[in-house]
Amino acid sequence: MISRPGPRPRRRAARPTPDVPDRGERDRSTPPTIMHVDMDAFYASVELRRRPELIGKPVLVGGATRGVVLSATYPARAHGISGGMPMTRARRLCPEAIVVPPDFDSYAETSRGIRAIFESFTAVVESASIDEAFLDLTGALHGCRTASSPAVLIGELIRAKVHDEQGITCSVGIGPTKFVAKLASTAAKPDGLREVPPADVVPFLHQLPVEAMWGVGEATAAKLHRLGLHKVAELAHAPRATLQRAFGIHQGAHLHDLSWGRDARPVVGRPPERSIGSEETFGRDTDDEEVVRRELLRMADRTAARMRKSEVLGRTVVITVRFADYTQITRSGTMRGLSDSGGEIHAQALALWTALGLRRARIRKVYVRVEGLVDRAEAHVQPELGEPEHGWREAERAMDAAVAKFGPQAVRRASLTRPTRPDRLSSPEPGFLGPY
Ligand SMILES: [Mg+2]
Repeated sequence: MISRPGPRPRRRAARPTPDVPDRGERDRSTPPTIMHVDMDAFYASVELRRRPELIGKPVLVGGATRGVVLSATYPARAHGISGGMPMTRARRLCPEAIVVPPDFDSYAETSRGIRAIFESFTAVVESASIDEAFLDLTGALHGCRTASSPAVLIGELIRAKVHDEQGITCSVGIGPTKFVAKLASTAAKPDGLREVPPADVVPFLHQLPVEAMWGVGEATAAKLHRLGLHKVAELAHAPRATLQRAFGIHQGAHLHDLSWGRDARPVVGRPPERSIGSEETFGRDTDDEEVVRRELLRMADRTAARMRKSEVLGRTVVITVRFADYTQITRSGTMRGLSDSGGEIHAQALALWTALGLRRARIRKVYVRVEGLVDRAEAHVQPELGEPEHGWREAERAMDAAVAKFGPQAVRRASLTRPTRPDRLSSPEPGFLGPY
């Protein structure tokens, strides 16, 4: 594994930048040590792991003809291809590129394995997306004194473990803030490590172009360019008031703060989300509203049955809709209270689906999940006398018992055993529903 640790940091005592006001969030003598770990070309790397014959070749993950590039290997990037680019354009840029369809389940599984590695080093892990996370090492390093940087040591250990256990490479950035750590990992890519000690933050930031800043998208970058600001150094020396006039009081001040490395956002460690869900891939893509609605009901029931079996209740319903072009959207909503009722989960899932307002979209797969799970025993559920759902819960428990005794075909909701549209009355689709 190649390591590119960047220029050796000079060990100087941290000193506040003249422009930095003391905000009192922390003792300035001990700035936090924050690490950002980002997988390199994550989806594509997972695909290469099981197809080693593709290593070194331009590989794109996404739908072959429609949609966008979800991930591209570095040889593909050398042709100017980047994530989010329309697949048709990418294939024009690199006709020999090999396109593989995404397998989100295996990416999620890999992601869980990587998170476990992070958690073996610090309890404060904040997942930023499926393939990147912030780690607060401040506590882990407390009182640690070695000749070389202990954070770099931990970073290299994490990189080695991710490679050994998951067979993919990642890049690590280390800095006193999330913002700097994130930019440092970008600077280290691919397969490298970069530490920016507190004393080097301002020179590190100031040599970057404004569009390299985390959170500065195309529109903001264009606006900064119109103000004549191309380098972060120029942004930093622009009058704060000018930025606030152009971007608003809050965003203008935020941009100015970031350009001096001031970023008070903490790493928020969350326990990994417990969730239970079920998913359905349609035999072939469908644009039939009715088919999707019925599947939502079936999955809500199935999820609720699993929750009752695991003796848990949940509050947040999440639906994911994956389209024929392999893009997907996820929406979540909260139920009135903790529940394990298929009827309540379905009502929430259906509301989320309806709010999407999709018209004739071609859909490959839907997924219903309940998050924020708590053990039933800890939930202190009050008897819900008088609640309309009460009857449903009893009925659903009776269904569970019948299914346990007679098998999955024993009980089904009426709306799942008959077609729901009058024009389908003559042609029910018995094969579609599958087992409960
Ligand atoms: Mg990444």
